[in-house]
Amino acid sequence: MPAVAVRHLVEETSFMAKGGIRQNRKREGRLIVVSNRVADPKRDRKAGGLAVAVGETLEATGGGWFGWSGEVTPDARQSKPTIRLSDGIYIVTIDLTSEELDGFYFGFSNQCLWPILHYRIDLVHFEQDYYDKYRIVNRRFANALAQFLGPNDVIWIHDLHLIPMGAELRRHGANQPIGFFLHVPFPPPEVVAALPRHHDVFKDMMAYDLLGFQTQRDTACFRNYAMQEIGAVLQKDGSLQFAGHRTQCGAYPAGIDVESFARLSTNAEARKQIDYLRKSIGDRALIVGVDRLDYSKGLVERLTAYGQFLRTYRENRNKVVLMQVTPPSRETLESYVQIRRELDRLEGDINGEFGEMDWTPVRYIRRAISRSKLAALYRASRVGLVTPLRDGMNLVAKEYVAAQDENNPGVLILSRFAGAAEAMHQALIVNPHDVEQVAYALQMALHMPLEERRERHQALLATIRKEDVHAWSKAFLARLANTKSEFAGALPLNSSSQPHRSTKTATTRTA
Ligand code: UDP
Repeated sequence: MPAVAVRHLVEETSFMAKGGIRQNRKREGRLIVVSNRVADPKRDRKAGGLAVAVGETLEATGGGWFGWSGEVTPDARQSKPTIRLSDGIYIVTIDLTSEELDGFYFGFSNQCLWPILHYRIDLVHFEQDYYDKYRIVNRRFANALAQFLGPNDVIWIHDLHLIPMGAELRRHGANQPIGFFLHVPFPPPEVVAALPRHHDVFKDMMAYDLLGFQTQRDTACFRNYAMQEIGAVLQKDGSLQFAGHRTQCGAYPAGIDVESFARLSTNAEARKQIDYLRKSIGDRALIVGVDRLDYSKGLVERLTAYGQFLRTYRENRNKVVLMQVTPPSRETLESYVQIRRELDRLEGDINGEFGEMDWTPVRYIRRAISRSKLAALYRASRVGLVTPLRDGMNLVAKEYVAAQDENNPGVLILSRFAGAAEAMHQALIVNPHDVEQVAYALQMALHMPLEERRERHQALLATIRKEDVHAWSKAFLARLANTKSEFAGALPLNSSSQPHRSTKTATTRTA
Protein backbone atom coordinates (compact mmCIF):
# COMPACT_ATOMS: atom_id res chain seq x y z
CA MET A 1 0.00 0.00 0.00
CA PRO A 2 1.23 3.49 -0.69
CA ALA A 3 2.20 5.68 2.26
CA VAL A 4 -0.82 7.82 1.57
CA ALA A 5 -3.93 6.62 3.33
CA VAL A 6 -5.80 5.17 0.44
CA ARG A 7 -9.07 3.54 1.46
CA HIS A 8 -11.75 1.72 -0.44
CA LEU A 9 -14.67 3.91 -1.32
CA VAL A 10 -16.89 3.03 1.63
CA GLU A 11 -20.63 3.53 1.67
CA GLU A 12 -20.16 5.17 -1.67
CA THR A 13 -23.56 4.39 -3.10
CA SER A 14 -25.33 6.04 -0.21
CA PHE A 15 -23.21 9.16 -0.19
CA MET A 16 -23.33 9.46 -3.96
CA ALA A 17 -27.11 9.41 -3.56
CA LYS A 18 -26.77 12.22 -1.03
CA GLY A 19 -25.15 14.35 -3.65
CA GLY A 20 -21.45 13.64 -3.94
CA ILE A 21 -18.14 13.04 -2.31
CA ARG A 22 -18.05 16.50 -0.75
CA GLN A 23 -20.59 15.26 1.80
CA ASN A 24 -18.19 12.69 3.15
CA ARG A 25 -15.55 15.06 4.40
CA LYS A 26 -14.51 12.96 7.38
CA ARG A 27 -13.37 9.99 5.36
CA GLU A 28 -9.68 9.32 4.78
CA GLY A 29 -8.48 10.20 1.31
CA ARG A 30 -9.06 7.84 -1.52
CA LEU A 31 -7.10 7.28 -4.65
CA ILE A 32 -8.88 8.65 -7.70
CA VAL A 33 -7.38 7.48 -10.97
CA VAL A 34 -8.27 9.38 -14.12
CA SER A 35 -7.67 8.18 -17.66
CA ASN A 36 -9.34 8.72 -21.00
CA ARG A 37 -10.75 5.21 -21.18
CA VAL A 38 -11.83 3.25 -18.15
CA ALA A 39 -11.33 -0.46 -18.65
CA ASP A 40 -13.50 -3.12 -17.12
CA PRO A 41 -11.06 -5.12 -15.00
CA LYS A 42 -13.13 -8.28 -15.58
CA ARG A 43 -12.52 -8.27 -19.28
CA ASP A 44 -9.51 -10.15 -20.53
CA ARG A 45 -9.13 -8.78 -24.04
CA LYS A 46 -7.52 -5.45 -23.40
CA ALA A 47 -5.01 -4.39 -26.00
CA GLY A 48 -3.67 -1.29 -24.22
CA GLY A 49 -0.82 -1.13 -21.69
CA LEU A 50 -2.51 1.64 -19.69
CA ALA A 51 -5.70 -0.38 -19.24
CA VAL A 52 -3.80 -3.43 -18.11
CA ALA A 53 -1.51 -1.56 -15.72
CA VAL A 54 -4.07 0.75 -14.12
CA GLY A 55 -6.63 -2.04 -13.70
CA GLU A 56 -4.09 -4.05 -11.75
CA THR A 57 -3.09 -1.07 -9.59
CA LEU A 58 -6.62 -0.14 -8.57
CA GLU A 59 -7.55 -3.72 -7.78
CA ALA A 60 -4.63 -3.72 -5.35
CA THR A 61 -5.27 -0.34 -3.71
CA GLY A 62 -9.02 0.19 -4.04
CA GLY A 63 -10.50 3.54 -5.04
CA GLY A 64 -12.25 5.17 -7.95
CA TRP A 65 -11.58 5.38 -11.64
CA PHE A 66 -12.84 8.32 -13.65
CA GLY A 67 -12.92 8.70 -17.42
CA TRP A 68 -14.81 8.66 -20.69
CA SER A 69 -17.61 6.08 -20.90
CA GLY A 70 -16.87 5.16 -24.50
CA GLU A 71 -20.37 6.47 -25.32
CA VAL A 72 -21.29 9.40 -27.53
CA THR A 73 -24.02 11.79 -26.47
CA PRO A 74 -25.82 14.28 -28.72
CA ASP A 75 -25.72 17.05 -26.11
CA ALA A 76 -22.89 17.59 -23.61
CA ARG A 77 -25.13 19.74 -21.38
CA GLN A 78 -27.55 16.84 -20.82
CA SER A 79 -24.81 14.34 -19.97
CA LYS A 80 -24.34 13.56 -16.27
CA PRO A 81 -21.61 11.30 -14.82
CA THR A 82 -22.57 7.62 -14.47
CA ILE A 83 -21.42 5.73 -11.38
CA ARG A 84 -21.09 1.96 -11.04
CA LEU A 85 -19.21 -0.53 -8.91
CA SER A 86 -16.98 -3.10 -10.59
CA ASP A 87 -14.82 -5.53 -8.61
CA GLY A 88 -14.57 -3.10 -5.69
CA ILE A 89 -13.58 -0.20 -7.94
CA TYR A 90 -15.96 2.73 -8.36
CA ILE A 91 -16.18 3.66 -12.00
CA VAL A 92 -17.37 7.17 -12.77
CA THR A 93 -17.73 8.04 -16.44
CA ILE A 94 -18.99 10.80 -18.68
CA ASP A 95 -20.11 10.74 -22.31
CA LEU A 96 -18.62 12.93 -25.04
CA THR A 97 -20.26 14.43 -28.09
CA SER A 98 -19.07 13.17 -31.47
CA GLU A 99 -17.57 16.63 -32.22
CA GLU A 100 -15.66 16.54 -28.95
CA LEU A 101 -14.44 13.04 -29.68
CA ASP A 102 -13.29 13.95 -33.18
CA GLY A 103 -11.30 16.96 -32.01
CA PHE A 104 -10.07 15.81 -28.62
CA TYR A 105 -9.33 12.16 -29.29
CA PHE A 106 -8.89 11.53 -33.04
CA GLY A 107 -7.63 15.06 -33.62
CA PHE A 108 -5.36 16.51 -30.98
CA SER A 109 -4.51 13.35 -29.00
CA ASN A 110 -3.94 10.98 -31.92
CA GLN A 111 -2.83 13.28 -34.71
CA CYS A 112 -0.82 15.85 -32.76
CA LEU A 113 0.33 14.61 -29.36
CA TRP A 114 0.86 10.95 -30.23
CA PRO A 115 3.11 11.57 -33.25
CA ILE A 116 5.06 14.45 -31.70
CA LEU A 117 5.74 12.52 -28.48
CA HIS A 118 6.90 9.56 -30.59
CA TYR A 119 9.36 11.84 -32.41
CA ARG A 120 7.25 11.92 -35.62
CA ILE A 121 7.01 15.61 -36.50
CA ASP A 122 6.28 14.54 -40.10
CA LEU A 123 3.01 12.86 -39.07
CA VAL A 124 1.59 15.74 -37.00
CA HIS A 125 -1.65 17.07 -38.42
CA PHE A 126 -2.67 20.15 -36.45
CA GLU A 127 -5.97 21.99 -36.65
CA GLN A 128 -6.99 24.76 -34.29
CA ASP A 129 -10.34 23.06 -33.72
CA TYR A 130 -8.56 19.91 -32.48
CA TYR A 131 -6.77 21.95 -29.87
CA ASP A 132 -9.94 23.81 -28.83
CA LYS A 133 -11.84 20.53 -28.37
CA TYR A 134 -8.91 19.07 -26.41
CA ARG A 135 -9.19 22.00 -24.00
CA ILE A 136 -12.97 21.79 -23.78
CA VAL A 137 -12.95 18.08 -22.99
CA ASN A 138 -10.23 18.46 -20.37
CA ARG A 139 -12.30 21.19 -18.77
CA ARG A 140 -15.43 19.00 -18.88
CA PHE A 141 -13.54 16.15 -17.22
CA ALA A 142 -12.34 18.52 -14.49
CA ASN A 143 -15.82 20.04 -13.98
CA ALA A 144 -17.33 16.58 -13.60
CA LEU A 145 -14.64 15.22 -11.27
CA ALA A 146 -14.43 18.33 -9.07
CA GLN A 147 -17.92 17.71 -7.67
CA PHE A 148 -16.89 14.26 -6.39
CA LEU A 149 -13.60 15.19 -4.75
CA GLY A 150 -13.08 14.98 -1.02
CA PRO A 151 -10.47 17.16 0.69
CA ASN A 152 -8.12 14.26 1.42
CA ASP A 153 -8.28 12.57 -1.93
CA VAL A 154 -5.20 11.91 -3.99
CA ILE A 155 -5.63 12.25 -7.73
CA TRP A 156 -3.59 10.39 -10.29
CA ILE A 157 -4.16 11.47 -13.90
CA HIS A 158 -2.88 9.40 -16.80
CA ASP A 159 -1.46 10.06 -20.18
CA LEU A 160 -1.40 12.45 -23.07
CA HIS A 161 -5.18 12.86 -23.45
CA LEU A 162 -5.44 14.65 -20.13
CA ILE A 163 -2.35 16.84 -19.78
CA PRO A 164 -4.29 20.07 -18.95
CA MET A 165 -6.73 18.40 -16.58
CA GLY A 166 -4.68 19.08 -13.45
CA ALA A 167 -4.56 22.80 -14.27
CA GLU A 168 -8.32 22.77 -14.91
CA LEU A 169 -8.89 21.13 -11.50
CA ARG A 170 -6.73 23.81 -9.87
CA ARG A 171 -9.01 26.42 -11.44
CA HIS A 172 -11.79 24.78 -9.45
CA GLY A 173 -9.74 25.41 -6.33
CA ALA A 174 -8.56 21.80 -5.97
CA ASN A 175 -5.46 21.76 -3.79
CA GLN A 176 -5.23 18.02 -3.23
CA PRO A 177 -2.06 16.26 -4.36
CA ILE A 178 -2.43 15.75 -8.11
CA GLY A 179 0.00 13.56 -9.98
CA PHE A 180 0.34 12.92 -13.68
CA PHE A 181 1.96 9.97 -15.41
CA LEU A 182 2.97 10.11 -19.05
CA HIS A 183 2.87 6.62 -20.56
CA VAL A 184 4.50 7.65 -23.83
CA PRO A 185 7.99 9.10 -24.40
CA PHE A 186 8.88 12.77 -23.97
CA PRO A 187 11.26 13.85 -26.74
CA PRO A 188 13.92 16.58 -26.68
CA PRO A 189 12.63 20.19 -26.58
CA GLU A 190 13.39 20.98 -30.21
CA VAL A 191 11.07 18.15 -31.29
CA VAL A 192 8.23 19.18 -28.94
CA ALA A 193 8.59 22.81 -30.03
CA ALA A 194 7.50 21.84 -33.55
CA LEU A 195 3.94 21.28 -32.29
CA PRO A 196 1.68 24.32 -32.69
CA ARG A 197 0.35 25.45 -29.28
CA HIS A 198 2.90 23.26 -27.47
CA HIS A 199 3.54 26.00 -24.96
CA ASP A 200 -0.13 26.19 -23.91
CA VAL A 201 -0.36 22.43 -23.52
CA PHE A 202 2.85 21.63 -21.70
CA LYS A 203 2.84 24.71 -19.46
CA ASP A 204 -0.15 23.12 -17.76
CA MET A 205 2.06 20.25 -16.64
CA MET A 206 3.46 22.67 -14.09
CA ALA A 207 0.13 22.58 -12.19
CA TYR A 208 0.86 19.01 -11.02
CA ASP A 209 2.63 18.16 -7.79
CA LEU A 210 4.33 15.15 -9.31
CA LEU A 211 5.11 14.27 -12.91
CA GLY A 212 6.04 10.68 -13.65
CA PHE A 213 7.84 9.56 -16.80
CA GLN A 214 8.76 6.10 -18.02
CA THR A 215 12.52 6.66 -18.18
CA GLN A 216 15.35 8.87 -17.00
CA ARG A 217 15.76 10.01 -20.61
CA ASP A 218 12.14 11.24 -20.78
CA THR A 219 12.48 12.97 -17.41
CA ALA A 220 15.63 14.77 -18.51
CA CYS A 221 13.99 15.83 -21.79
CA PHE A 222 11.00 17.25 -19.92
CA ARG A 223 13.20 19.18 -17.47
CA ASN A 224 15.08 20.67 -20.41
CA TYR A 225 11.84 21.57 -22.15
CA ALA A 226 10.36 23.16 -19.01
CA MET A 227 13.46 25.27 -18.49
CA GLN A 228 14.05 26.26 -22.11
CA GLU A 229 10.51 26.71 -23.35
CA ILE A 230 8.41 27.53 -20.30
CA GLY A 231 10.91 29.34 -18.15
CA ALA A 232 10.64 26.96 -15.18
CA VAL A 233 13.54 27.06 -12.75
CA LEU A 234 15.30 23.85 -11.78
CA GLN A 235 15.69 23.42 -8.01
CA LYS A 236 18.51 21.60 -6.23
CA ASP A 237 16.25 18.59 -5.52
CA GLY A 238 15.40 18.22 -9.24
CA SER A 239 11.95 19.77 -8.91
CA LEU A 240 10.80 22.63 -11.16
CA GLN A 241 9.57 25.97 -9.87
CA PHE A 242 7.07 27.84 -11.99
CA ALA A 243 4.58 30.61 -11.13
CA GLY A 244 4.92 30.00 -7.41
CA HIS A 245 4.35 26.26 -7.60
CA ARG A 246 6.83 23.43 -7.31
CA THR A 247 6.53 20.31 -9.41
CA GLN A 248 8.51 17.20 -8.66
CA CYS A 249 9.44 14.95 -11.56
CA GLY A 250 10.97 11.53 -11.83
CA ALA A 251 11.20 8.25 -13.69
CA TYR A 252 8.71 5.55 -12.64
CA PRO A 253 9.07 2.71 -15.12
CA ALA A 254 5.70 0.99 -15.59
CA GLY A 255 5.74 -2.73 -14.89
CA ILE A 256 3.51 -5.79 -15.00
CA ASP A 257 2.21 -8.20 -12.39
CA VAL A 258 5.01 -10.70 -12.99
CA GLU A 259 3.74 -13.57 -10.85
CA SER A 260 0.20 -13.51 -12.18
CA PHE A 261 1.43 -13.34 -15.76
CA ALA A 262 3.81 -16.23 -15.12
CA ARG A 263 0.88 -18.24 -13.75
CA LEU A 264 -1.14 -17.47 -16.87
CA SER A 265 1.59 -19.01 -18.98
CA THR A 266 1.60 -22.32 -17.08
CA ASN A 267 -2.08 -22.98 -16.33
CA ALA A 268 -4.08 -25.77 -17.97
CA GLU A 269 -5.44 -23.47 -20.70
CA ALA A 270 -1.90 -22.34 -21.59
CA ARG A 271 -0.66 -25.92 -21.76
CA LYS A 272 -3.50 -26.76 -24.14
CA GLN A 273 -2.65 -23.76 -26.33
CA ILE A 274 1.04 -24.65 -26.36
CA ASP A 275 0.26 -28.24 -27.47
CA TYR A 276 -1.96 -26.88 -30.21
CA LEU A 277 0.72 -24.47 -31.37
CA ARG A 278 3.37 -27.17 -31.34
CA LYS A 279 1.21 -29.42 -33.50
CA SER A 280 0.69 -26.64 -36.00
CA ILE A 281 4.33 -25.54 -36.37
CA GLY A 282 6.04 -28.91 -35.80
CA ASP A 283 9.59 -28.63 -34.47
CA ARG A 284 10.20 -25.24 -36.08
CA ALA A 285 11.39 -22.46 -33.78
CA LEU A 286 8.76 -19.84 -33.07
CA ILE A 287 9.56 -16.12 -33.17
CA VAL A 288 6.83 -13.95 -31.72
CA GLY A 289 5.88 -10.28 -32.17
CA VAL A 290 2.91 -8.66 -30.39
CA ASP A 291 2.09 -5.02 -31.09
CA ARG A 292 -0.89 -2.80 -31.76
CA LEU A 293 -0.90 -1.69 -35.38
CA ASP A 294 0.97 1.58 -35.00
CA TYR A 295 3.79 3.33 -36.87
CA SER A 296 5.72 3.64 -33.61
CA LYS A 297 6.04 -0.15 -33.31
CA GLY A 298 8.50 -0.56 -36.18
CA LEU A 299 6.49 -3.33 -37.83
CA VAL A 300 7.58 -2.61 -41.38
CA GLU A 301 11.23 -2.52 -40.33
CA ARG A 302 10.71 -5.76 -38.38
CA LEU A 303 9.22 -7.71 -41.28
CA THR A 304 11.93 -6.33 -43.56
CA ALA A 305 14.57 -7.54 -41.09
CA TYR A 306 12.94 -10.97 -40.93
CA GLY A 307 13.03 -11.20 -44.72
CA GLN A 308 16.70 -10.20 -44.61
CA PHE A 309 17.34 -12.86 -41.97
CA LEU A 310 15.86 -15.57 -44.20
CA ARG A 311 17.88 -14.27 -47.14
CA THR A 312 21.22 -14.07 -45.27
CA TYR A 313 21.02 -17.05 -42.93
CA ARG A 314 19.55 -19.56 -45.36
CA GLU A 315 19.96 -22.53 -43.03
CA ASN A 316 16.95 -21.26 -41.05
CA ARG A 317 14.52 -21.62 -43.95
CA ASN A 318 11.65 -23.94 -43.13
CA LYS A 319 13.00 -24.10 -39.56
CA VAL A 320 11.40 -20.96 -38.11
CA VAL A 321 7.99 -19.27 -38.06
CA LEU A 322 7.32 -15.62 -37.21
CA MET A 323 3.94 -15.24 -35.49
CA GLN A 324 3.00 -11.56 -35.57
CA VAL A 325 -0.09 -10.58 -33.53
CA THR A 326 -1.24 -7.09 -34.46
CA PRO A 327 -4.61 -5.82 -33.24
CA PRO A 328 -5.77 -2.84 -35.27
CA SER A 329 -5.97 0.62 -33.72
CA ARG A 330 -7.11 4.07 -34.93
CA GLU A 331 -8.22 2.52 -38.20
CA THR A 332 -9.81 5.68 -39.54
CA LEU A 333 -6.54 7.64 -39.64
CA GLU A 334 -4.64 7.69 -42.92
CA SER A 335 -1.21 7.01 -41.35
CA TYR A 336 -2.63 3.79 -39.85
CA VAL A 337 -4.34 2.72 -43.07
CA GLN A 338 -1.03 3.16 -44.87
CA ILE A 339 0.96 1.07 -42.43
CA ARG A 340 -1.62 -1.68 -42.61
CA ARG A 341 -1.35 -1.76 -46.40
CA GLU A 342 2.42 -1.87 -46.21
CA LEU A 343 2.36 -4.75 -43.72
CA ASP A 344 -0.09 -6.76 -45.81
CA ARG A 345 2.19 -6.30 -48.80
CA LEU A 346 5.35 -7.26 -46.89
CA GLU A 347 3.75 -10.35 -45.41
CA GLY A 348 2.72 -11.41 -48.93
CA ASP A 349 6.21 -10.69 -50.28
CA ILE A 350 7.98 -12.75 -47.60
CA ASN A 351 5.57 -15.67 -47.78
CA GLY A 352 5.72 -15.53 -51.57
CA GLU A 353 9.54 -15.38 -51.73
CA PHE A 354 10.39 -17.98 -49.09
CA GLY A 355 7.23 -20.04 -48.43
CA GLU A 356 6.95 -23.68 -49.38
CA MET A 357 4.08 -26.15 -49.72
CA ASP A 358 4.44 -27.10 -46.07
CA TRP A 359 5.81 -23.82 -44.65
CA THR A 360 4.41 -20.32 -44.18
CA PRO A 361 7.29 -18.14 -42.86
CA VAL A 362 5.06 -15.35 -41.44
CA ARG A 363 1.76 -15.89 -39.70
CA TYR A 364 0.01 -12.63 -39.24
CA ILE A 365 -2.97 -12.32 -36.87
CA ARG A 366 -4.70 -9.01 -37.33
CA ARG A 367 -6.90 -8.95 -34.24
CA ALA A 368 -6.49 -8.87 -30.45
CA ILE A 369 -6.03 -12.17 -28.69
CA SER A 370 -6.61 -12.82 -25.00
CA ARG A 371 -3.81 -12.37 -22.49
CA SER A 372 -3.93 -16.05 -21.62
CA LYS A 373 -3.39 -17.02 -25.26
CA LEU A 374 -0.60 -14.45 -25.47
CA ALA A 375 1.07 -15.94 -22.40
CA ALA A 376 1.02 -19.38 -24.03
CA LEU A 377 2.36 -17.96 -27.28
CA TYR A 378 5.27 -16.27 -25.48
CA ARG A 379 6.11 -19.43 -23.59
CA ALA A 380 6.02 -21.63 -26.67
CA SER A 381 8.38 -19.33 -28.57
CA ARG A 382 12.13 -19.28 -28.88
CA VAL A 383 12.47 -15.55 -29.56
CA GLY A 384 10.48 -12.47 -28.52
CA LEU A 385 10.93 -9.74 -31.12
CA VAL A 386 10.16 -6.30 -29.64
CA THR A 387 11.49 -3.65 -31.98
CA PRO A 388 9.54 -0.37 -31.72
CA LEU A 389 11.01 2.76 -33.28
CA ARG A 390 9.83 4.56 -30.11
CA ASP A 391 7.86 3.28 -27.17
CA GLY A 392 7.16 4.72 -23.74
CA MET A 393 7.88 1.41 -22.01
CA ASN A 394 6.59 -1.66 -23.92
CA LEU A 395 4.92 -4.06 -21.53
CA VAL A 396 5.07 -6.91 -24.05
CA ALA A 397 8.84 -7.10 -23.46
CA LYS A 398 8.21 -7.66 -19.74
CA GLU A 399 5.38 -10.13 -20.30
CA TYR A 400 7.63 -12.09 -22.64
CA VAL A 401 10.25 -12.55 -19.92
CA ALA A 402 7.63 -13.37 -17.23
CA ALA A 403 6.13 -16.13 -19.39
CA GLN A 404 9.34 -18.07 -20.04
CA ASP A 405 10.25 -21.48 -18.71
CA GLU A 406 13.24 -20.74 -16.46
CA ASN A 407 14.89 -24.01 -17.44
CA ASN A 408 14.60 -23.43 -21.15
CA PRO A 409 13.88 -19.74 -21.73
CA GLY A 410 13.46 -17.90 -25.01
CA VAL A 411 15.55 -14.86 -25.91
CA LEU A 412 14.26 -11.28 -25.94
CA ILE A 413 15.38 -9.01 -28.78
CA LEU A 414 14.63 -5.46 -27.70
CA SER A 415 14.82 -2.08 -29.42
CA ARG A 416 17.09 0.45 -27.75
CA PHE A 417 14.26 2.95 -28.30
CA ALA A 418 11.76 1.15 -26.06
CA GLY A 419 11.61 2.56 -22.53
CA ALA A 420 12.05 -1.03 -21.32
CA ALA A 421 15.61 -1.04 -22.69
CA GLU A 422 16.74 1.43 -20.03
CA ALA A 423 16.76 -1.41 -17.47
CA MET A 424 16.55 -4.66 -19.48
CA HIS A 425 20.21 -4.77 -20.44
CA GLN A 426 20.43 -8.53 -20.81
CA ALA A 427 18.11 -8.58 -23.78
CA LEU A 428 19.75 -8.47 -27.20
CA ILE A 429 19.53 -4.72 -27.68
CA VAL A 430 19.13 -3.61 -31.29
CA ASN A 431 18.64 -0.54 -33.42
CA PRO A 432 15.31 -1.32 -35.14
CA HIS A 433 16.26 0.82 -38.15
CA ASP A 434 19.28 -1.39 -38.80
CA VAL A 435 17.83 -4.31 -40.73
CA GLU A 436 21.13 -6.24 -40.90
CA GLN A 437 21.64 -5.91 -37.17
CA VAL A 438 18.16 -7.20 -36.33
CA ALA A 439 18.67 -10.11 -38.76
CA TYR A 440 21.95 -10.93 -37.01
CA ALA A 441 20.29 -10.70 -33.58
CA LEU A 442 17.69 -13.23 -34.75
CA GLN A 443 20.45 -15.58 -35.82
CA MET A 444 22.23 -15.15 -32.45
CA ALA A 445 19.03 -15.63 -30.45
CA LEU A 446 18.04 -18.80 -32.31
CA HIS A 447 21.46 -20.36 -31.81
CA MET A 448 22.24 -19.13 -28.31
CA PRO A 449 23.48 -21.85 -25.93
CA LEU A 450 21.11 -22.85 -23.12
CA GLU A 451 23.43 -21.60 -20.38
CA GLU A 452 23.60 -18.09 -21.83
CA ARG A 453 19.83 -18.03 -22.34
CA ARG A 454 19.33 -18.96 -18.70
CA GLU A 455 21.77 -16.35 -17.43
CA ARG A 456 20.16 -13.60 -19.44
CA HIS A 457 16.68 -14.67 -18.47
CA GLN A 458 17.49 -14.82 -14.74
CA ALA A 459 18.84 -11.27 -14.81
CA LEU A 460 15.87 -9.96 -16.81
CA LEU A 461 13.40 -11.68 -14.51
CA ALA A 462 15.03 -10.06 -11.48
CA THR A 463 14.71 -6.65 -13.17
CA ILE A 464 11.03 -6.97 -14.06
CA ARG A 465 10.25 -8.29 -10.57
CA LYS A 466 11.98 -5.30 -9.00
CA GLU A 467 10.14 -2.90 -11.29
CA ASP A 468 6.75 -4.60 -11.33
CA VAL A 469 3.35 -2.91 -11.45
CA HIS A 470 3.07 -2.83 -7.67
CA ALA A 471 6.47 -1.16 -7.25
CA TRP A 472 5.49 1.35 -9.94
CA SER A 473 2.26 2.52 -8.34
CA LYS A 474 3.65 2.29 -4.81
CA ALA A 475 6.66 4.45 -5.62
CA PHE A 476 4.59 7.01 -7.53
CA LEU A 477 1.86 7.29 -4.91
CA ALA A 478 4.28 7.41 -1.99
CA ARG A 479 6.12 10.28 -3.63
CA LEU A 480 2.87 12.03 -4.54
CA ALA A 481 1.70 11.85 -0.93
CA ASN A 482 4.88 13.60 0.12
CA THR A 483 4.63 16.48 -2.28
CA LYS A 484 2.83 19.22 -0.47
CA SER A 485 0.72 21.16 -2.88
CA GLU A 486 1.93 24.74 -2.81
CA PHE A 487 -0.24 25.85 -5.63
CA ALA A 488 -1.67 29.21 -4.62
CA GLY A 489 -3.98 30.18 -7.45
CA ALA A 490 -4.72 29.75 -11.07
CA LEU A 491 -2.12 29.17 -13.72
CA PRO A 492 -1.36 31.97 -16.12
CA LEU A 493 -4.18 32.31 -18.61
CA ASN A 494 -3.92 30.43 -21.85
CA SER A 495 -4.63 32.74 -24.70
CA SER A 496 -7.28 30.34 -26.04
CA SER A 497 -8.90 29.22 -22.80
CA GLN A 498 -11.44 30.86 -20.57
CA PRO A 499 -10.72 29.62 -17.07
CA HIS A 500 -13.62 29.34 -14.66
CA ARG A 501 -11.86 31.37 -12.03
CA SER A 502 -8.52 33.07 -12.20
CA THR A 503 -6.93 34.82 -9.30
CA LYS A 504 -3.43 35.35 -10.58
CA THR A 505 -1.48 35.63 -13.74
CA ALA A 506 2.23 35.30 -14.18
CA THR A 507 4.65 36.37 -16.86
CA THR A 508 5.83 33.55 -19.04
CA ARG A 509 7.87 33.24 -22.16
CA THR A 510 5.83 32.40 -25.19
CA ALA A 511 7.00 29.98 -27.83
N1 UDP B 1 -2.30 -7.21 -25.69
C1 UDP B 1 -3.36 -8.10 -25.58
N2 UDP B 1 -3.82 -8.72 -26.71
C2 UDP B 1 -3.26 -8.51 -27.94
C3 UDP B 1 -2.17 -7.63 -28.04
C4 UDP B 1 -1.71 -6.99 -26.90
O1 UDP B 1 -3.88 -8.32 -24.49
O2 UDP B 1 -3.71 -9.11 -28.92
C5 UDP B 1 -1.78 -6.54 -24.47
C6 UDP B 1 -0.38 -6.98 -24.13
O3 UDP B 1 -0.42 -8.18 -23.40
C7 UDP B 1 0.15 -5.80 -23.35
C8 UDP B 1 -0.59 -4.62 -23.95
O4 UDP B 1 -1.68 -5.16 -24.69
O5 UDP B 1 -0.19 -5.90 -21.98
C9 UDP B 1 0.28 -3.76 -24.86
O6 UDP B 1 1.07 -2.94 -24.07
P1 UDP B 1 2.41 -2.26 -24.61
O7 UDP B 1 2.97 -1.43 -23.51
O8 UDP B 1 3.35 -3.30 -25.12
O9 UDP B 1 1.96 -1.38 -25.86
P2 UDP B 1 0.81 -0.28 -26.10
O10 UDP B 1 -0.25 -0.98 -26.89
O11 UDP B 1 0.33 0.20 -24.76
O12 UDP B 1 1.47 0.79 -26.92
